Amino acid sequence: KGANGKYTVTLIPGDGIGPEISESVKDIYSAANVPIEWEEVSVAPILKGGKTVIPDAAINSVRKNTVALKGPLATPIGKGHVSLNLTLRRTFNLFANVRPCVSIKGFKTPYEDVNTVLIRENTEGEYSGIEHEVVDGVVQSIKLITWDASERVARYAFHYAQASGRKRVTAVHKANIMKMSDGMFLSACRQVAKDFPEISYDEDLLDRACLQIVQNPKPYADRVMVMPNLYGDILSDMCAGLIGGLGLTPSGNIGRDASIFEAVHGSAPDIAGKSSPFIAGKGLANPTALLLSSIMMLRHMNLNEYATKIENAALSTIAEGKTITGDLGGKASTKEYTAAIIEKLRRA
Ligand code: NAD
Repeated sequence: KGANGKYTVTLIPGDGIGPEISESVKDIYSAANVPIEWEEVSVAPILKGGKTVIPDAAINSVRKNTVALKGPLATPIGKGHVSLNLTLRRTFNLFANVRPCVSIKGFKTPYEDVNTVLIRENTEGEYSGIEHEVVDGVVQSIKLITWDASERVARYAFHYAQASGRKRVTAVHKANIMKMSDGMFLSACRQVAKDFPEISYDEDLLDRACLQIVQNPKPYADRVMVMPNLYGDILSDMCAGLIGGLGLTPSGNIGRDASIFEAVHGSAPDIAGKSSPFIAGKGLANPTALLLSSIMMLRHMNLNEYATKIENAALSTIAEGKTITGDLGGKASTKEYTAAIIEKLRRA
């Protein structure tokens, strides 16, 4: 907290629709008088020693502030590029990715009572990035599972369950096939479970969990699911679909050295304006996912009152359905939707 009574938070607007939805969050925060000062940095990669890296200024800002809100980053396709998201995860040891999916009251989807929390191991597994060609036409991709990373994410899942009043932790796995790797992930979960006798623990196969959640998500409302990297990536997008899509789902990357909050979705190039910062966006993007991510961030910072106030204003705007964006079936632009939330904040 600075001398002016405000907390400094790093803001990475990101690519594609990123700047547009970041603008919306900033406007809403000003209207709600949130005691946060944004330190805006670009993570546009620069060349250093023949490699593309994230600028030092961005890294230093996150390291100093330890909390950041991040827009989506487009991952360049092709050789020699590392994913910037992966770089951030590794640089700050962002070991757990928390993805809640909660139905919005009043916004109609085929499911009414989705309330899942999924915690994804964020640093290894199928995303270790170790791939090689053995001989022509044969490649190997290494799924790396370590006891330490499994234990760390499992412990975080139990802590999260405890703090959020959820009574059960379910480890999601395919240990029937991947006996050693997923097997060890489960062993780590079982060991951590012993330290939390008040929270029940069980295990579910990934395929079974998918089937059960789409048939009836209700039983998943009382628990936290924890799983290796790839399973979490896929299962969380599936859960996002149950509550109305990617425009609504937040996430938090919880780390040892910092925590970075971001929407689950990407840069949405199909609805973004040109990538120059001087050209306005098209007004088609839904800023809710980034806004809800920022609300997770406020709760992480113990700014709960502001979190609740902004959350109520946003969710009631969606529930009324008059001023919502195209992805939710409405006609409002990003700015009109933002203005409707601000209007509610003023009247609250
Ligand atoms: P995407 O999430 O960007 O888009 C998928 C679909 O959802 C598109 O039709 C898009 O228009 C829509 N959509 C996404 N967010 C929306 C929003 N806020 N409002 C309205 N509609 C929205 O996925 P993609 O097209 O596969 O990826 C585009 C780029 O984003 C790629 O370069 C990818 O690597 C990157 N990406 C980044 C992150 C991240 O930074 N965390 C996550 C996923 C993808």
